[in-house]
Amino acid sequence: MWYTIYYMVYLDYAATTPLLKEVMEAMHDAEKRFFANASALHTPGHLALNEIEDCRELLSELVGCEPDEIIFTSGASEANNTVVRTFEGHVIETSPLEHHSIIEAARVYRGDKLPKLYSYMLANNETGEILELPKPEEGAFLHSDLTQVLGKLPIDVKKLGLDYATFSAHKIGGPIGVGALYVRKGAPLKPLIIGGNQEKKRRSGTYNTIGIIGFKAALLHVKKYKTWQEYDNRVRKLRDALARRILEEVPGSSLNTDIAPGRSLPNILNMSFEAAEGESIQLYLDAGGVIVSTGSACAAGDIKPSHVLMAKTGDAEVAHSSIRFSFGIENNEADVEYVMKVLPPIIDKLQKISTIVRKK
Ligand code: PMP
Repeated sequence: MWYTIYYMVYLDYAATTPLLKEVMEAMHDAEKRFFANASALHTPGHLALNEIEDCRELLSELVGCEPDEIIFTSGASEANNTVVRTFEGHVIETSPLEHHSIIEAARVYRGDKLPKLYSYMLANNETGEILELPKPEEGAFLHSDLTQVLGKLPIDVKKLGLDYATFSAHKIGGPIGVGALYVRKGAPLKPLIIGGNQEKKRRSGTYNTIGIIGFKAALLHVKKYKTWQEYDNRVRKLRDALARRILEEVPGSSLNTDIAPGRSLPNILNMSFEAAEGESIQLYLDAGGVIVSTGSACAAGDIKPSHVLMAKTGDAEVAHSSIRFSFGIENNEADVEYVMKVLPPIIDKLQKISTIVRKK
C-alpha cells in the first residue's frame, strides 16, 4: 500500500489502524457541522449531542447492552483505569496477560476489602490468544478489556456475564483518543474525571464530538460489513499463510500464537526467531518497508521483554526474539509475498552475527 511517505506493508493493526475512508470523510464533514459544545442548550449543541447519542446507540446495539450503559472516554486506557479505580481498596484480581493500563492501575489501587473485581481480557493484544473469563462468585464484579475483540468477533456483554467492558475506536479504523466503557446498570462506578457533569456525572469533560463521530463511522463499518466475518474468512487466511511460510522458510522460527481455529483472534501472529533480537528484526523490517511491532507498542522504548510472553513462556530469549505481525482489512496476498521476500535474509543476517548459539 502507498502511504503518504513511502511504500510499506503495514502489519501493526493491533497497535493502531489507519483511519477508514468513511471515518475520515465523516470527521471532516463533522468539523463543519457539529463543532458546537454538545452540552450547550442551543441548536448546534443539540445537533452535536444527537450525533453522540447515535454513536452510543450503535455501540450498545453492537455489544448487546442499553445505550445508557455506555460512557464515552478518551480511550481504552482511561476506561480500564476508571473501572479499576472504582474498586480502590478492594480485592482486584487480574491476569498477568492484561494491558498495562489494568496491571499498573491494579497495583496502585488494590486492597483487601470486598466486593471483589475480576478484570480479565477476552483476547490478548500481543499474541491474539483467546482467553477464558473467570466465573465470579456472588457479589463480585467482572470487567473485560475488549479492545482487541471489537470488530473481530461478535460481542454480547450480557451473554459474557460482564459488569464492565472496555472499547477503543482506533483499533477498528476510528480515531485515536476515543473509547467507551460499558457499565452494567446498577454496577458501581467512581468517575475518574469530575467537574463538568457530562455523561450523567460519570465522566466529565467537554464531549469529543468529532472523535465520537469518527467512532460512529467506524462502528457503522463494523455493522454494515459484519467485519468479524471478513476477519474470519479473509484476514485469517493471510495470517495463517504468513505463519506457515515463515515456519517453512525461516530456520529457527516458532509460533507464540496458536493459529488453530477458535484459539486466537484471526489477525494477530506472534512469532519468535532463535538467536535474533526482536528490536533488530523490527528495525531491519522497517527499513525494508514492513511495519511490525515487538512485544506491545504501548511498551515501546521499554527494553524489558514483553510481560505477556514472559508470563506465557517464562523464557526471556523467546520473549526478546519475538515479533508481532497484526493484519487488517486493507492487507492482501501481495503483502504476505512481500514479507517473505524481505524477512528471511534479515533473520539469516542477524542469526549469523548473533553471539547466541542456535539450538539446532
Ligand atoms: N487495552 C488493550 C488490550 C490494548 O490493545 C490497548 C491498545 N494498545 C489498550 C488497552 C489501550 O488503548 P487506548 O490507546 O485506546 O488507550
